[in-house]
Amino acid sequence: MNRKKNLLWLQSGGCGGCSMSLLNSEQPGLTVFFEAAGIELLWHPSLSESCNDDLITLLHNIIDDKISLDILCLEGAVIHGPKGTGAFHHLSNTQQPMRDWLKKLSQKAKNIIAVGSCAAFGGITAGGGNPTEASGLQFSGEQAGALLSADYKNAQGLPVINIAGCPTHPGWITDTLFALARNELSMSDLDTFNRPRFYSDQLVHHGCPRNEYYEYKASAEKPSDLGCMMEHLGCRGTQAHADCNTRLWNGSGSCLRGGYACINCTAPQFEEPGYTFTLTPKVAGIPTGLPTDMPKAWFVALSALAKAATPQRLKNNAVEDHVRTPPEIDARKKP
Ligand code: SF4
Ligand code: SF4
Repeated sequence: MNRKKNLLWLQSGGCGGCSMSLLNSEQPGLTVFFEAAGIELLWHPSLSESCNDDLITLLHNIIDDKISLDILCLEGAVIHGPKGTGAFHHLSNTQQPMRDWLKKLSQKAKNIIAVGSCAAFGGITAGGGNPTEASGLQFSGEQAGALLSADYKNAQGLPVINIAGCPTHPGWITDTLFALARNELSMSDLDTFNRPRFYSDQLVHHGCPRNEYYEYKASAEKPSDLGCMMEHLGCRGTQAHADCNTRLWNGSGSCLRGGYACINCTAPQFEEPGYTFTLTPKVAGIPTGLPTDMPKAWFVALSALAKAATPQRLKNNAVEDHVRTPPEIDARKKP
């Protein structure tokens, strides 16, 4: 029988939201998943009962090759500040920067996963002028090369796998772990930013319940409106790589379904878009963030046509907080 794969989960500069999201893993639940995937959880800050001293012993055992580390997961950004010392985040009771622990452990780990946009690219932790000098594990924003060099690859030729998202969907983590545990993940399964393509080849726009409004450019004008939020309220769903509206959250949710515009949280540097998240930046009335693959002239032409053809029902409901004009019942007699 194959040995179980050992997994260690550490946290640094983040909010813990990716762990909280992971705990919502369902069908199967997390413990059943680990068993089925053949994964042994060595330590997780929210799930393990063992104390800090046990963790430090475990880390030394890994570094001394007494315990093999198959999968290292980091949640939260790597903290390099102040002035490159890493002293803003010491691992408790060790007097050593977490960054230095991560460096040593990454040399022992057979696979490395950055869980969430902080660990992947710096994320929210790197926002606001980046006072903590945060970076991802292998990317700093869009630039490859951070704690680990741009050309880092494991023995199977895999770089750090960036499960970007803020937070990550639990299914993105469990699907990645499952594929890794079965040695079924290769470079061709990752995109340019080393995100698993099973979710990043999708757009958040796919499956959005506001798609009918989008088609006719029947736009919401304020947050509670039902219309499409691309034109005025900052929605980036047409450019955001994720399957949030086809692989729902907690069984039925997504940002869009909750009434929130997509802020493209799976992208590097999403935290500093250069404009207010909930207002669409425009030049001469045209949104600057156009749908992926769509030339500007086409968008302008199609928008004008769509607006001219907008059914009254959609025009009305786009600026209401619930459906006031229902679809007409087709009263035509059957032939
Ligand atoms: S990616 Fe987002 S949810 Fe995850 S730790 Fe960072 S800030 Fe929190
Ligand atoms: S609200 Fe956003 S995701 Fe939904 S249809 Fe409009 S652009 Fe697409």
